[in-house]
Amino acid sequence: METILVKITPEDSGSAYKDAAQLLKENQVVGIPTETVYGLGGNAFSEEAVKRIFEAKGRPQDNPLIVHISEFDEIYELVSQVPDTARLLAEKFWPGPLTMILPKSDKVPLCVTGGLGTVAVRCPSHPVANRLIKETGLPIAAPSANLSGKPSPTRASHVYSDMNGRIPMVIDGGDCAEGVESTVITLATPVPKLLRPGNITISQLRQALGQVDVDDAVLNPLKSGERVSSPGMKYKHYSPDADIVVLCGEYKAFCDYVNQRKSDDTYAMVFDGEGDGLAVPCITYGTSGNYKELSHALFDSLRLLDEKGARVCFVRCPDRSNDDNLAVLNRLLRAASFKVVEL
Ligand code: AMP
Ligand code: MG
Repeated sequence: METILVKITPEDSGSAYKDAAQLLKENQVVGIPTETVYGLGGNAFSEEAVKRIFEAKGRPQDNPLIVHISEFDEIYELVSQVPDTARLLAEKFWPGPLTMILPKSDKVPLCVTGGLGTVAVRCPSHPVANRLIKETGLPIAAPSANLSGKPSPTRASHVYSDMNGRIPMVIDGGDCAEGVESTVITLATPVPKLLRPGNITISQLRQALGQVDVDDAVLNPLKSGERVSSPGMKYKHYSPDADIVVLCGEYKAFCDYVNQRKSDDTYAMVFDGEGDGLAVPCITYGTSGNYKELSHALFDSLRLLDEKGARVCFVRCPDRSNDDNLAVLNRLLRAASFKVVEL
């Protein structure tokens, strides 16, 4: 299949939107920009479209998809109950990078939810995504547009490199502003629970709702046989080809550790302003205290390691005592298959 790459701006006159919407109405799959990462979009009401998404991505069938809507009222078709907590969160954080899990309606096929009785719903703020959903007139199921297991795509070129030949169209709407996937919270439990951290932080959620639990799987590997609240947490994620090792401690100890293990194709991923004293090539991924910068650069940096042919990369660990860093830590730990060294 030929994959066309189409540049669209929010102001475009409409024909590009019409072409993409037509493909979506025909249950085809389209690469779509959102403010978090690029998504692989398809008609959420169509089993055929959903099957195509799973095939294009190589995603395990029990890993459910997030359904995207263009305004709050579209939620009523997708869920069987809308609690006050959902309204409150939507008022504060939608459109934006927050996904809510709620009991699903009968209209949502089980293939979207990986067989679960709940559905994940989000209203993206990216003007291209929002307008395209409106133009299509359908809720759009969209996982991140990477091949399963690879780092999520934050640029159209990443999507094209993973999906060329697998889907008919990729929309280039520019680089993603956030750079990590949405925060996922379930409202289908007695106490709301954070399942995946993102740039809507746990402290923002607690400010809005009071008590919010954090799922164990956010920062810990699964024990064998353990049941997960969010099937995505079972799978190896976000991995570049290089072996990632996260080093926790001071910069001086980081340099000593890396320099002692220097070999061909070893890289370091450090904070802005660092690099002096390292005997291996390094890439930076933002200012140490700025979680927005780190999350914005993380996936791009992991993909850059592959482009450079890195075999091993030692990464500076963000401050674990600051909950705002949860999103970056969660992705880094998975990219490293939980290989962490305390210096
Ligand atoms: P992605 O599509 O790559 O952004 O990943 C979506 C994430 O949301 C995965 O980790 C899923 O496991 C999670 N998710 C989607 N739907 C549900 C659901 N109904 N219950 C729990 N987690 C969900
Ligand atoms: Mg993903």
